[in-house]
Amino acid sequence: MASTPAHPDGAVHPGAPTDAPRWDYSPAPETVPVTIPERTQLLIGGKFVDPASRKRFATVNPATEAVLSQVAEAGEADVAAAVAAARKALKPWSKLRAGERAKYLYRIARRIQERARELAVLETMDGGKPIKESRDVDVPLAAQHFFYHAGWCDKLRYAVPGGGDPQPVGVCGQIIPWNFPLLMAAWKLAPALACGNTVVLKPAETTSLTAMRLAEILQECDLPPGVVNVVTGAGATGRAIVEHKGIDKLAFTGSTEVGKLIARACAARGTRLTLELGGKSPNIIFADAAIDQAIEGIVQSIWFNQGHVCCAGSRLFVEESVLPEVLAKLDIRMRSLRVGDPLDKNTDVGAINSRQQLATIAKYIEEGGREGCTVCQPGAQALPTKGFWCRPTYMTGVQPSHVVAREEIFGPVLAVMSFRTPEEAIQRANNTPYGLAAGIWTEKGSKVFDVARRLQAGVVWCNTYNQFDATSPFGGFKESGFGREGGRHGLAAYLAD
Ligand code: NAP
Ligand code: MG
Repeated sequence: MASTPAHPDGAVHPGAPTDAPRWDYSPAPETVPVTIPERTQLLIGGKFVDPASRKRFATVNPATEAVLSQVAEAGEADVAAAVAAARKALKPWSKLRAGERAKYLYRIARRIQERARELAVLETMDGGKPIKESRDVDVPLAAQHFFYHAGWCDKLRYAVPGGGDPQPVGVCGQIIPWNFPLLMAAWKLAPALACGNTVVLKPAETTSLTAMRLAEILQECDLPPGVVNVVTGAGATGRAIVEHKGIDKLAFTGSTEVGKLIARACAARGTRLTLELGGKSPNIIFADAAIDQAIEGIVQSIWFNQGHVCCAGSRLFVEESVLPEVLAKLDIRMRSLRVGDPLDKNTDVGAINSRQQLATIAKYIEEGGREGCTVCQPGAQALPTKGFWCRPTYMTGVQPSHVVAREEIFGPVLAVMSFRTPEEAIQRANNTPYGLAAGIWTEKGSKVFDVARRLQAGVVWCNTYNQFDATSPFGGFKESGFGREGGRHGLAAYLAD
């Protein structure tokens, strides 16, 4: 057996799988080398183990198509073992003095910070997002979620109406998507643990590596065995969690399609559920807005993380009188966006997460053209020959009835429409089965309050977009799901009634 691998930060990770050969990556001179195991394992009951079937699948770097690692595929037996471990850990964990539980969360938060560079590089390599986003957004926010929830551990009686002695829900199944792999794991784990629950977590098939690195961190922090179990795999692994009778609560973030399947399964069994699904969020620019700021807001709303964002401002509504100015300025701004190597710290738009997602996006762009929209990709620069790429794109001549105005594309594609009055803007913005987020750009305060109140959206940003914070509740209306995550409201989902 090889000795325990040393990490770039010099720490020794006692819980990490030690028998897998490793190699060093030196992706770019300014980034730290990251050690990636050739094979990953599952974290069950405080031990890294192989899946019972010994099956694995490849995870690739979407910017190069290079295989990064063979990821363990958990089957029903592994999920059952994980649920049993979580059940066994529940009583001791939930009975632990709240201040002691908090110490674990603080420790995890600090360790995420200490290993931040390594986590950021790994996130970018496995998922394709620009390093400046993983470094400045995903990893710091992941740490913040643990810090914030650590503070709640001994104050939970203030989190629920009536106070009393709040109890955890029990064993939580948490299924997360590929767009913010580490952040979604932190976002789901931190409140569950703070409230005294135990967890079986499943990352998305294309982006399991940072969740497994987080599993190493949990081990380094001596989190008691079974409190968090991480089972990697594809849709079938998720289904095994959903169908397991030992799960008391499910939390899911992903597509509306899978969300509906999960809602049905949970309803049949009476399992508690929170769903964070898709969106087609409106970003509304009024003529009195600071237009240059609004242009930055458009960039942030739809090209952040290649548009792989559930709350992306994918429908832009511009007041008719300023539409020509907005589009002219947007064209200029788009010419300065750098698309390419996600590990380059100057890159603005990275790689599309998977070949499959690229095909979905390409299909929508084609459909937009077929429906009579004009497809605009200003500043077309050469793209790398390998990997999955899509230029920042907007479409004009879009009607509300067009597919590209109705369906979630989950890529860097913006549908531009116009309006004449605030009434029309609100009516058009709400004309969607979704209700996750919205943006308003105006210098007039009364308009902000009036419009925000009438938009059916869980989050409304004013003169900004895509700002996240652990203290703010996040979640949707209508087909965007139900339940809130983050802030005091997010705790309710993890406390028994
Ligand atoms: P998805 O299938 O809903 O995936 C989300 C998570 O659910 C993943 O961990 C997935 O595993 C798992 N899963 C898949 N089928 C399952 C099942 N039957 N039971 C339980 N878990 C299951 O989403 P996707 O296919 O990756 O993306 C499709 C579309 O979903 C995107 O184009 C986008 O519109 C939307 N989406 C939304 C969000 C969001 O933040 N709201 C995030 C991602 C995607 P595998 O990844 O291993 O299949
Ligand atoms: Mg990958």
